[in-house]
Amino acid sequence: MHIILLSIIPGMYKSIKKNITVFIIAFLFPCIIHAQTVTEPMTKEEWTRPFPPFRIAGNLYYVGTYDLGCYLITTANGNILINTGTASSAEQIKKNIETLGFNYRDIKILLLTQAHFDHAGGLAEIKQQTHASLMVDEKDAEVLDSGGSTDYELGKYGTSFKPVKADVLLRDGDTVKLGDARLVMLHHPGHTKGSCSFLFTIKDEQRSYRVLIANMPSIITDRPFADITAYPAIEQDYAYTLQVMKNINFDIWAAAHASQFGLHEKYKPGNGYNPLAFADPEGYMAALNDLQKQYEEKMQKEAPVKQ
Ligand SMILES: [Zn+2]
Repeated sequence: MHIILLSIIPGMYKSIKKNITVFIIAFLFPCIIHAQTVTEPMTKEEWTRPFPPFRIAGNLYYVGTYDLGCYLITTANGNILINTGTASSAEQIKKNIETLGFNYRDIKILLLTQAHFDHAGGLAEIKQQTHASLMVDEKDAEVLDSGGSTDYELGKYGTSFKPVKADVLLRDGDTVKLGDARLVMLHHPGHTKGSCSFLFTIKDEQRSYRVLIANMPSIITDRPFADITAYPAIEQDYAYTLQVMKNINFDIWAAAHASQFGLHEKYKPGNGYNPLAFADPEGYMAALNDLQKQYEEKMQKEAPVKQ
């Protein structure tokens, strides 16, 4: 951008030349530093593998990659995007939105289920390109701002995504509004301090559906919870989330990872429109019970350490 500025205003070149060092230090140098320091911990092939976008229900669409769930909700006043995948997924999301016939720049609100590089990696770029307002669970704002370097676990990798500042901080039960869309944010901490899910109603020609985009509370640390001084409430937060997530009423659900809600068993590219393929309350409870078991086993293992 700054190079273009130099070339289109030749008359100003002389004075700008004097200040070129200032330009480099002020604008280019941080970008160079930044490019050198963003390191994604590890990516799985299916996280970046392209996947054709499709209509889940009403004006809710899947625009993510093969495994990273990204969701577009369209309204007459612009669109909402939940999650972005890794940094490299931004371009795929844009293509997917356009394939569905929507305008990428109509994204007005960006939401996030957890501040990890595999869901937040494209936020900075998409926000910059669309000028959308980024609304996040207030407890994840700091980690987003640090590009992941202050995360209690993934912070050990340093900056794992391009830092991005939230425009609006959300609390448990807050409603995000755009056009006729009303999304309730549910605070589901543990996986990150500000992990959250979204609950909303979607209508099609036939009926309405209560939709849950869930952030499943998987445990990513091998360290005893008592050792995680950067997140003292982690144990209680997981216990809270596992409990409240079992009491949510919904008609259809999806999650941050396709593998967490069995997307590829429920849908194959080319399948017709079928919202109820994503009903599966049993699969949801089974997934939560599995996570509950992992949590309890970890607690049992750590019990002697705590005494
Ligand atoms: Zn994660």
